[in-house]
Amino acid sequence: MSTQSLPLRRDEAAARASLLKIEDYDVRLDLGSSEETFGSVTTIRFTSRGGPTFLDLKPVSVERISLNGASIDPGTLAKGRLPISTQEGPNELVVEATMPFRNDGEGLHRSVDPADGRAYVYGMCFMDAAPTIFACFDQPDLKAPYTFHVTAPHDWTVIGNAPGTQTSPGTWEFERSQPLSTYFVTLVAGPWHMIHDEHDGIPLSLSSRQSIAADLDKDAEELFTITKQCFDEFHRLFGIRYPFGNYHQAFVPEFNAGAMENPGCVTFRDPLVFTSRVTRGMRIQRATTVAHEMAHQWFGDLVTPQWWDDLWLNESFAEYMGNRVTAEVTEYADAWADMSYARRQWGLTADQRGSTHSVAGNGAEDAVSALQNFDGISYSKGSAILRQLAASLGDDVFFAGAIDHFTRHRFGNATMHDLFGSWDAAAAEAGVEFDLDTFTSQWLLKAGPDTLSWDPAKMVVNRTAPSLHPADRSHTFRAAILNGTRWTTEDITVSGDQTPLQVAANAVVLDPYDDTWASAIPDWETVQALKGAIASITDDGLRAGVWNNLRSAWFNAAVDPADVIDIAEASLPVEDLEDTPRRTMPWLFGSVVPLAPAGARERLHEAALRKLAEVAPGSELQLSSYRAAIRSASSESLLREWLATPPAGIETDLDLRWRILAKLAENGLADRSELQAAYDAEPANEARIHLNGALVSIPDAEAKVYGWSVFTGETDLPNYDILAAGRAFWTGPAELTAGYVERYFAELPATAEKRSGWSLAEAAEAFFPSGSVTEETLAAARAVIELDLDPGVRRRVADAADNLQRQLAIKVTYPA
Ligand SMILES: [Zn+2]
Repeated sequence: MSTQSLPLRRDEAAARASLLKIEDYDVRLDLGSSEETFGSVTTIRFTSRGGPTFLDLKPVSVERISLNGASIDPGTLAKGRLPISTQEGPNELVVEATMPFRNDGEGLHRSVDPADGRAYVYGMCFMDAAPTIFACFDQPDLKAPYTFHVTAPHDWTVIGNAPGTQTSPGTWEFERSQPLSTYFVTLVAGPWHMIHDEHDGIPLSLSSRQSIAADLDKDAEELFTITKQCFDEFHRLFGIRYPFGNYHQAFVPEFNAGAMENPGCVTFRDPLVFTSRVTRGMRIQRATTVAHEMAHQWFGDLVTPQWWDDLWLNESFAEYMGNRVTAEVTEYADAWADMSYARRQWGLTADQRGSTHSVAGNGAEDAVSALQNFDGISYSKGSAILRQLAASLGDDVFFAGAIDHFTRHRFGNATMHDLFGSWDAAAAEAGVEFDLDTFTSQWLLKAGPDTLSWDPAKMVVNRTAPSLHPADRSHTFRAAILNGTRWTTEDITVSGDQTPLQVAANAVVLDPYDDTWASAIPDWETVQALKGAIASITDDGLRAGVWNNLRSAWFNAAVDPADVIDIAEASLPVEDLEDTPRRTMPWLFGSVVPLAPAGARERLHEAALRKLAEVAPGSELQLSSYRAAIRSASSESLLREWLATPPAGIETDLDLRWRILAKLAENGLADRSELQAAYDAEPANEARIHLNGALVSIPDAEAKVYGWSVFTGETDLPNYDILAAGRAFWTGPAELTAGYVERYFAELPATAEKRSGWSLAEAAEAFFPSGSVTEETLAAARAVIELDLDPGVRRRVADAADNLQRQLAIKVTYPA
């Protein structure tokens, strides 16, 4: 669906916040009467200074609106806004509307599980979808308590931000919640599988779809244990108790983000309930996500940014605290090394593009432009800077400032200047000398990373500030020095353009442990030495640092693809190259192999097979070797052999079966009936997504026609399926898809008529012709950015064009 609504501007939000104070919301939802829509009756009590303003409302239809007893003509509703004229003092607004169930992960998302035909519903109001569930004044700094009343089918369980009870079959009454921003309001409703526990007086619960109940049961103890450990640690660090009553963690289908920190009712993407075997990397990612959302209950939920430009107050803190607490109190002590693989490049690459922005004070003037800044800078870079700040201030001052901030603005809103004030006061109180102003202006308020590189001839470390964002920063970090076969660590502080580093070394890896924030580029001699050295590096952090250095060099066309393949061949696969979108394997196969000399994929395949033959059956290393071997395979007989009889120690689960089927389909070795039969035998949600990807990857015209109909929205699929189709679209012989490059740019703008929000932008990125590394495609991408596009689409295409330009630079510098 498309919500042709106006994004809220900052000045409009400020005017409305100074006019109104919201007393409370009373919301009645009827979820049981239709599969397409639901009834929504909202009563808002608020106080006004008196005067005109507007209500946010994005319904299918409006039955009745009244303000202070007088009815308002619903015909005045335009672009999601209803003008109203408030009276001075108390006001009561009642809106009776019919709202849409959505399938794009926003608003009230409804989906039917193909495994058993059961329907599930969850609410995602972030960041401007609340008005598709209930009438509201939708901005972060108009907080109010909510009381929900829900009618639902009799076999459903309904969970909300506040505790609720079923008062008669199908009727649910909820307690009045604490004051919440509109974007935190949620409901999770359906025939969920529920598991309950309790810790330190806090009722805990987990939920998932029934068809994956056994998988949630299997991991419930791990999830509850992490939750309890994190609660204890956050209570110890903050000295302020979790204030929202129950703590429910809902695993929900087709969720766009990793998770959402709704107070008392956190929603997670349900691939985090592992239905197939995963490696430790995925478990760490889930643990840090659990901890991240818990950190948000304080940073974000208890105290909320006044406006979206301070979203880093939420995300950078939650990211830093989530990683730190996971590493310090859960079984995943190696969380930082894993995050280095998973998130570091996400932040570094975003920070080097033309679209970079400062961590703090990014100046977002409206809600939609703010959404574009929910990127690697707000998460990964912000977390890295806060880690440095905590190290510089010391924990005592760092947390004293945070606690002061939570106490002053409890259940309210604040800005970064409020937090800086709290830190300044805490530092003064503790007698800590620290120039917070300089630190914040250099690291939080300036965009772009410095580049660090080692010059072995001059024995100096060069520091270059980003040309568009000049700064004079110093960096204190560890460097890993390889002398002969022995690695040692050297502490170094780099300031000015050149800093001496006098060491006897055949390789120098700068900042492998992410001590500072910079793009560290390895020199040519180091790259050559790594070919022989990588396989024997046993330190997880150093190995992650080597790969981050190589990826930074790649991003700047400063390493030969042939050298990257040599190093990968020597080290493939190490256990922490988890095969998920942000990590090393998709980069290696998706970006490096296509620009490397012919035969690169085959060499990596042979390396994976060698590893597979030598590792212990049943080990994680075996699983990741096997996945790498499947990913790089093209032999039908080998893939079919694995489908029938996997290597000893491996069980073919849904994930592995579809990895093999997808590879067969991509190579034209599996037909549609085989894929359909595999789905029919196990019609799970995950399988349907794989099926749609595989159907689009088949190297024939029919597959591409189908894929294109998904892109244009002619075929309406849920969000995950759209992404799977997009990622599969450009596989196969170039002549099959060549005609679609031009069509992508011609037909992209109209996709905004079929989709909105996250799924609109994500589809634009997933279907971008990233494999067409030509000047013509780059020119077409730059031309389309100039059109009147949805801001989310424009940002994704601009970043994809930036990638393309960098790939072209590699092609020119290192012709294969
Ligand atoms: Zn977050």
